[in-house]
Amino acid sequence: MSISNQKVVTMDFKVSDTNGQVLDSSEGAEPLVYLHGAQNIIPGLEAALEGKNVGDFVKVEVVAAEAYGEYHDQMVQQVPMAAFEGVDQVEPGMAFHAESPDGHPIQIIVTEVEGDMVTVDGNHPLAGKDLVFEVTVQDVREATADELEHGHVHGPGCHH
Ligand SMILES: [Zn+2]
Repeated sequence: MSISNQKVVTMDFKVSDTNGQVLDSSEGAEPLVYLHGAQNIIPGLEAALEGKNVGDFVKVEVVAAEAYGEYHDQMVQQVPMAAFEGVDQVEPGMAFHAESPDGHPIQIIVTEVEGDMVTVDGNHPLAGKDLVFEVTVQDVREATADELEHGHVHGPGCHH
Protein backbone atom coordinates (compact mmCIF):
# COMPACT_ATOMS: atom_id res chain seq x y z
CA MET A 1 0.00 0.00 0.00
CA SER A 2 1.47 3.35 -0.92
CA ILE A 3 1.00 6.68 0.83
CA SER A 4 -1.92 8.80 -0.33
CA ASN A 5 -4.73 10.80 1.22
CA GLN A 6 -6.66 9.08 4.00
CA LYS A 7 -3.83 6.68 4.81
CA VAL A 8 -2.27 6.41 8.28
CA VAL A 9 1.51 6.41 8.05
CA THR A 10 3.99 5.20 10.68
CA MET A 11 7.56 6.35 10.20
CA ASP A 12 10.93 6.69 11.83
CA PHE A 13 12.34 10.13 11.28
CA LYS A 14 15.33 12.33 11.87
CA VAL A 15 15.30 16.05 11.28
CA SER A 16 18.46 18.13 11.00
CA ASP A 17 19.33 21.67 10.10
CA THR A 18 21.27 22.30 6.90
CA ASN A 19 24.54 22.11 8.85
CA GLY A 20 23.78 18.51 9.78
CA GLN A 21 22.94 19.16 13.41
CA VAL A 22 20.18 16.76 14.50
CA LEU A 23 17.23 18.66 15.97
CA ASP A 24 14.80 15.83 16.62
CA SER A 25 14.56 12.13 15.99
CA SER A 26 12.36 9.13 16.72
CA GLU A 27 15.44 7.08 17.59
CA GLY A 28 14.94 5.56 21.03
CA ALA A 29 11.39 6.90 21.04
CA GLU A 30 8.08 6.09 19.45
CA PRO A 31 7.82 6.38 15.67
CA LEU A 32 5.70 9.21 14.30
CA VAL A 33 2.17 8.26 13.24
CA TYR A 34 0.12 10.69 11.18
CA LEU A 35 -2.90 10.92 8.89
CA HIS A 36 -1.76 11.74 5.35
CA GLY A 37 -3.54 14.58 3.58
CA ALA A 38 -4.86 16.14 6.78
CA GLN A 39 -2.07 18.67 7.32
CA ASN A 40 -0.93 16.81 10.43
CA ILE A 41 2.70 17.26 9.43
CA ILE A 42 4.55 20.06 7.67
CA PRO A 43 3.54 20.52 4.02
CA GLY A 44 6.99 19.96 2.51
CA LEU A 45 7.39 16.58 4.18
CA GLU A 46 3.85 15.48 3.45
CA ALA A 47 4.38 16.23 -0.25
CA ALA A 48 7.66 14.28 -0.30
CA LEU A 49 5.99 11.20 1.19
CA GLU A 50 3.14 11.04 -1.32
CA GLY A 51 3.28 7.72 -3.20
CA LYS A 52 5.98 6.16 -1.00
CA ASN A 53 5.76 2.57 0.26
CA VAL A 54 6.62 0.60 3.39
CA GLY A 55 10.39 0.30 3.67
CA ASP A 56 11.10 3.37 1.54
CA PHE A 57 13.75 5.78 2.77
CA VAL A 58 13.12 9.42 1.97
CA LYS A 59 15.61 12.24 2.44
CA VAL A 60 14.28 15.68 1.65
CA GLU A 61 15.34 19.24 2.32
CA VAL A 62 12.37 21.41 3.17
CA VAL A 63 12.68 25.20 3.00
CA ALA A 64 11.41 27.16 5.99
CA ALA A 65 8.24 28.32 4.24
CA GLU A 66 7.25 24.68 3.66
CA ALA A 67 8.36 23.64 7.14
CA TYR A 68 7.55 25.67 10.28
CA GLY A 69 7.22 28.96 8.43
CA GLU A 70 9.31 32.08 8.16
CA TYR A 71 10.46 33.92 11.25
CA HIS A 72 8.11 36.84 11.94
CA ASP A 73 9.48 39.80 13.87
CA GLN A 74 5.94 40.82 14.85
CA MET A 75 5.63 37.56 16.82
CA VAL A 76 8.17 39.00 19.24
CA GLN A 77 6.37 41.18 21.75
CA GLN A 78 6.90 42.95 25.03
CA VAL A 79 4.34 42.28 27.70
CA PRO A 80 4.11 43.57 31.25
CA MET A 81 5.23 41.25 34.06
CA ALA A 82 1.67 41.51 35.42
CA ALA A 83 0.53 39.24 32.56
CA PHE A 84 2.41 36.37 34.24
CA GLU A 85 0.35 36.45 37.41
CA GLY A 86 0.89 33.29 39.44
CA VAL A 87 4.36 32.60 38.09
CA ASP A 88 6.97 32.89 40.82
CA GLN A 89 9.85 34.01 38.70
CA VAL A 90 9.75 34.72 34.97
CA GLU A 91 13.06 33.85 33.34
CA PRO A 92 14.40 33.64 29.80
CA GLY A 93 13.80 30.22 28.28
CA MET A 94 10.48 29.61 30.01
CA ALA A 95 7.69 28.49 27.72
CA PHE A 96 4.01 29.37 28.07
CA HIS A 97 0.86 28.55 26.19
CA ALA A 98 -0.85 31.51 24.60
CA GLU A 99 -3.16 32.41 21.76
CA SER A 100 -2.02 33.90 18.47
CA PRO A 101 -3.77 37.07 17.22
CA ASP A 102 -5.95 34.86 14.97
CA GLY A 103 -6.91 32.59 17.86
CA HIS A 104 -4.64 29.57 17.39
CA PRO A 105 -2.94 28.00 20.39
CA ILE A 106 0.77 28.75 20.25
CA GLN A 107 3.76 28.39 22.51
CA ILE A 108 5.61 31.53 23.48
CA ILE A 109 9.11 31.58 24.88
CA VAL A 110 10.48 34.23 27.20
CA THR A 111 13.61 35.67 25.62
CA GLU A 112 14.35 38.62 27.88
CA VAL A 113 13.28 40.07 31.22
CA GLU A 114 13.99 43.71 31.92
CA GLY A 115 12.42 45.30 34.97
CA ASP A 116 8.67 44.95 34.63
CA MET A 117 8.77 44.17 30.93
CA VAL A 118 9.06 40.67 29.50
CA THR A 119 9.99 39.97 25.89
CA VAL A 120 8.32 36.88 24.46
CA ASP A 121 8.79 35.14 21.12
CA GLY A 122 5.77 33.37 19.60
CA ASN A 123 7.66 31.98 16.62
CA HIS A 124 7.98 28.21 16.42
CA PRO A 125 11.49 27.28 17.62
CA LEU A 126 12.19 25.96 14.11
CA ALA A 127 10.68 28.96 12.27
CA GLY A 128 12.94 30.41 9.62
CA LYS A 129 15.02 27.24 9.40
CA ASP A 130 15.47 25.06 6.32
CA LEU A 131 15.25 21.46 7.51
CA VAL A 132 16.53 18.12 6.25
CA PHE A 133 14.24 15.17 6.95
CA GLU A 134 15.35 11.54 6.77
CA VAL A 135 12.37 9.25 7.01
CA THR A 136 11.85 5.49 6.79
CA VAL A 137 8.27 4.41 6.16
CA GLN A 138 7.36 1.64 8.63
CA ASP A 139 3.68 1.11 8.00
CA VAL A 140 0.83 2.36 5.84
CA ARG A 141 -2.80 1.53 6.58
CA GLU A 142 -6.27 2.79 5.78
CA ALA A 143 -7.59 5.39 8.21
CA THR A 144 -10.74 4.50 10.14
CA ALA A 145 -13.96 6.47 9.67
CA ASP A 146 -13.44 8.01 13.11
CA GLU A 147 -9.95 9.16 12.23
CA LEU A 148 -11.10 10.72 8.98
CA GLU A 149 -13.90 12.55 10.77
CA HIS A 150 -11.50 13.91 13.38
CA GLY A 151 -8.68 14.63 10.95
CA HIS A 152 -6.06 12.84 13.04
CA VAL A 153 -4.85 9.40 14.06
CA HIS A 154 -6.37 7.52 16.98
CA GLY A 155 -4.36 5.10 19.06
CA PRO A 156 -2.47 4.79 22.32
CA GLY A 157 -1.93 8.19 23.88
CA CYS A 158 -4.47 10.03 21.75
CA HIS A 159 -7.08 12.37 23.15
CA HIS A 160 -9.86 9.79 23.55
ZN1 LIG B 1 -10.02 12.27 17.60
